[in-house]
Amino acid sequence: MTPSAPSVIEGIGDDCAILRMGNRVMLASCDLSIENIHWRRSHATPEEIGWKAAASALSDIAAMGGVPLFALVSIACPPEVEVSFMEGLYDGLLDAMAQSGATIVGGDTTKSREGVVIDLTVLGESEGRVLMRKGAKPGDALVVTGFLGMASAGLDALESGARAPELAKAHYHPTPRFPEGQWLSERQEVHAMIDISDGLAQDAGHIAEASRIGVSIDSTRIPVEPRLAAYCAANGKNPLVFMISGGEDYELAFAADPASVEDLLREFRAQFHTSITIVGEFTQSDLGIRVDGAPATIKGFDHFAKKNAS
Ligand SMILES: [Mg+2]
Repeated sequence: MTPSAPSVIEGIGDDCAILRMGNRVMLASCDLSIENIHWRRSHATPEEIGWKAAASALSDIAAMGGVPLFALVSIACPPEVEVSFMEGLYDGLLDAMAQSGATIVGGDTTKSREGVVIDLTVLGESEGRVLMRKGAKPGDALVVTGFLGMASAGLDALESGARAPELAKAHYHPTPRFPEGQWLSERQEVHAMIDISDGLAQDAGHIAEASRIGVSIDSTRIPVEPRLAAYCAANGKNPLVFMISGGEDYELAFAADPASVEDLLREFRAQFHTSITIVGEFTQSDLGIRVDGAPATIKGFDHFAKKNAS
């Protein structure tokens, strides 16, 4: 059973906990970033590793339409790690925090026996409406920001030794969608939202599950980023695998009223340069999670376990 208290608006189960503190609504989330699970020292600069750890934690605030405020950073590192690596890591963390407007206000450091472990707690607030995973309705459009699959294709390239610096950059330098998330949270026609950390099928599935409905993804509607298409063509890979089951793009996926979604998209495009696309719809619960009409079989992103995507 989930522990509860009067000031807990939403506890465990969404991207952030939603907490009432006086007349303010606070958002709180934590995220672990572990060497050789989430990143490798040989793949990226220390700055990129720090940036990615911070951006992936902060993205959970963007997922709810919140404003990031503070972060606490705890790091465990083994004795052989050089001071210059740790300095670079902090520079990357500080960069991502500064870009989002959040301030590091504390944390802890300790030794580990093996591997670097970064634990980030992020705190933010909502200045209006908080978008949760629950709230989507059957018939709602499934909409995504940006292009999907770039980050996981970047990881695929890094793991296989293929040269694809722009995809690798997408993997190690994601940008949480704060302005877009805040703008969407103010729109009543948006019913539920999540950030895509585990892959489109899995994260759209999280909205569906929390809303007790189903979701149907139409793969032909997902835009293919040209550099992803080129990488897949050159390396015999299927871009859909990255776009549907690849994670860590930190784009937003949301459910919107079908009657007004086209107006919403038009206004969004007038406001932001970020692309935005309808890629499916939410359905009755008995249909589950479907891709092109068939039950989703491509599991969400499993970090290094899934390096043989093809
Ligand atoms: Mg999330």
